[in-house]
Amino acid sequence: MTTNAKMTINGKDVDTANHLTVTNPANGDLLGTAPDAGMAELDAAIAAARAAFPKWRATPYAERQAVVAKIGEVIGTNMEELCRSLTLEQGKPAEQAQFEIGGAAAWCGATAMLELPVFVLEDEPGHRIETHHVPIGVVGSISPWNFPLMLSVWKIAHAILAGNTMVLKPSPFTPLTVLRLGVLLRGVIPDGVLNIISGGDALGPMMTSHKGFDKISFTGSSATGRRVMESAAPTLKRVTLELGGNDAAIVMPDVDVAQAAESVFWSAFTNSGQVCIATKRAYVHDSVYDSFKAAITEIAKNVPMGDGSKQGSALGPINNKPQYDRVKNLIADCETNGYPMTQGYQPEEKDGYFIPVTLVDNPPENSRIVQEEQFGPVLPLLRWSDEADVIARANNSEYGLGGTIWTNDYDAALRIAPQLETGSVWINEAMAAHPHAAFGGHKQSGLGSENGVDGLLEYTNPQTITVRRPVAT
Ligand code: NAD
Repeated sequence: MTTNAKMTINGKDVDTANHLTVTNPANGDLLGTAPDAGMAELDAAIAAARAAFPKWRATPYAERQAVVAKIGEVIGTNMEELCRSLTLEQGKPAEQAQFEIGGAAAWCGATAMLELPVFVLEDEPGHRIETHHVPIGVVGSISPWNFPLMLSVWKIAHAILAGNTMVLKPSPFTPLTVLRLGVLLRGVIPDGVLNIISGGDALGPMMTSHKGFDKISFTGSSATGRRVMESAAPTLKRVTLELGGNDAAIVMPDVDVAQAAESVFWSAFTNSGQVCIATKRAYVHDSVYDSFKAAITEIAKNVPMGDGSKQGSALGPINNKPQYDRVKNLIADCETNGYPMTQGYQPEEKDGYFIPVTLVDNPPENSRIVQEEQFGPVLPLLRWSDEADVIARANNSEYGLGGTIWTNDYDAALRIAPQLETGSVWINEAMAAHPHAAFGGHKQSGLGSENGVDGLLEYTNPQTITVRRPVAT
């Protein structure tokens, strides 16, 4: 059964004359269509958000918190349907879809607990200075295809909690689950506060250059992020950019090799490597390199890859053809250069964008597979023996999103962590984003942050209010 999804503008169904088609990346089956919005629909969505803004910004903070918590409840209540839709259009296995949808629900609950701080900078009898944080206005949000619902919810929860209204656009590769969320939230969020539209390649640039937005919150690749910033500049829109990564895992000599190999495997290959904060380079100490390589290769051979809807699939396909071609091209470059490689479990499916887990054995530091973001199930294993050298190599990247350190030597880990030029460092865990912790990239991995109070403040303008009054003598 196919779905003909509709957009939500001002709390109502909106369709378009033209449509995008959405297919299942595991087998190419047609899943449905989504509206292909143009300027008319974008104008209508912005007008709805603009009209809803005065009332929403004046809505007491506690009521906005209740609405954000309710969004989480609605996602939780509709978990089964949303998970099924996500697996079909994104490709991720059911268990990982549950992690994403369940995580999105929990994120709303935790975000709803955040308070907007008021900074009292002076509190004298005759003079008081306070800095408040007021909503920015109408936010345009653009999300990617790897975690379509979770990453959209990160934007929705913070933007509306801070008192903004918004227009959100999911990726054209995965619009269905997010458009469905828009339908489920009608009546939960006042009309016009959250508008969800879909469209092809032209819609993103239309949004970033549109005068009707006061801020753009973007998650996607660094290349697109640069275009977003450029396009937002003439109207001085605020921007938050969550971009690509090339995270290094540093495996120390003292690890339990079997345990470290298992942890690094999942840090690299969850969602078939299509995670911004996946391990994309594994630096393994020389003394454990060979045993680590043997252990991770064994895991790769045994973790089943297949159609995410089928029981037992632990890894799914690449989400879309352009990304499939990009990853294939990186593997071909390794082949051309003669880097040793091993492949893991071979999926039975012959159609679909499947690439078996591929491990590249100690390629040169300047190879494309080390320098570029693969965003797929291929991982270079790299030897190291000197601590200062491995830190320099980990930092030798235009990216600075996250990184991990695997060790039982906590002094060493805490010595290395602050030297890594990344927005997050996880020690003995990976991808451990938390709703109350700032998350963002250094260098070309982004600008600003999401989550926690820092993320909430990104959706506000500071406003300083001073009061001078006579002091009774
Ligand atoms: P992408 O940049 O191709 O697309 C992201 C979104 O931008 C999509 O909705 C797309 O339609 C839209 N878009 C495309 N061109 C645009 C333009 N010129 N102006 C405005 N919008 C435009 O990224 P992707 O392939 O969907 O996602 C993968 C990338 O996202 C990877 O680099 C990954 O690391 C990154 N990512 C980062 C984070 C993070 O939080 N830092 C999270 C997830 C993904």
